[in-house]
Amino acid sequence: MSVPTFFLRACPTCGRRLEVAVQHLGRDVECPSCGSRFATSIIPSEEFEDREVERVLRDAERYLATVDEWNQVAEAWSDRQSASAPP
Ligand SMILES: [Zn+2]
Repeated sequence: MSVPTFFLRACPTCGRRLEVAVQHLGRDVECPSCGSRFATSIIPSEEFEDREVERVLRDAERYLATVDEWNQVAEAWSDRQSASAPP
């Protein structure tokens, strides 16, 4: 099961922001507010996707840095444990 992805598109007639499912990008959609049909383009969404990807990558980097820190703490802890362990 795939999670549906939506992109925000402003209706050129009434300006209402619509959520367009990713599979409808590049096709005509009907505005539920004013009923006008307009074509959704894929190009503006790529900018949005880039920002999303950048954000996800930053989150991933932060997460990895946290894991690194924890690994260092765990290593220091196990060093101390073995150093103070009785023979
Ligand atoms: Zn509209």
